[in-house]
Amino acid sequence: MNEQALLSIYEDSGALLNGHFVLSSGRHSPRYLQSAKVLMHPAHAEVLGRELAQLAATQNVDVVVAPALGGLIIGHEVARALNKPLIFTERKEGVMSLRRGFSFTQGARVLVVEDVITTGGSVCECMAVVREHGGLPLEVLAVVDRAPDAEGRFDVPHQTLLKLNVPSYAPEDCPLCREGILPAVKPGSRHAA
Ligand SMILES: [Zn+2]
Repeated sequence: MNEQALLSIYEDSGALLNGHFVLSSGRHSPRYLQSAKVLMHPAHAEVLGRELAQLAATQNVDVVVAPALGGLIIGHEVARALNKPLIFTERKEGVMSLRRGFSFTQGARVLVVEDVITTGGSVCECMAVVREHGGLPLEVLAVVDRAPDAEGRFDVPHQTLLKLNVPSYAPEDCPLCREGILPAVKPGSRHAA
């Protein structure tokens, strides 16, 4: 599947919004990506999982790991495509942790899967947890990279299906605010369109 076909899935699912948005960082952006609106369709999730699994440099892994919540659905689909188990890390009082009786055998070969990567913070925290528990992260796979030009986010190779360089601005430098046509909305808030 090429990038245009992927982008079409996002657009057709209403997951790629154009407008004026306040990101969780507080910066403003003309585009917003709501991956959950693609992954809510099992058929899309399955296809994307299969495509991601094929991108992996090695399929010789023991387990797929995803940071909750964002990575869960796509992580599950990648795990299905590789016929490997999926376990997940999650935040407990803000700290990424391994819970629910999950564990790694020493040196377990781990594929880390996320839906959307921007700064890569959750993925880095997830990999740190994997290492603390004796696992060996080999590679990071994500559906979308929102900052494909950013270097040095991970200390292992990473691959994404869709690279989407989305501009963002400090509120005081935001051209959309200057135009004053559209009010800025926070996606995910009940006021977002
Ligand atoms: Zn703005």
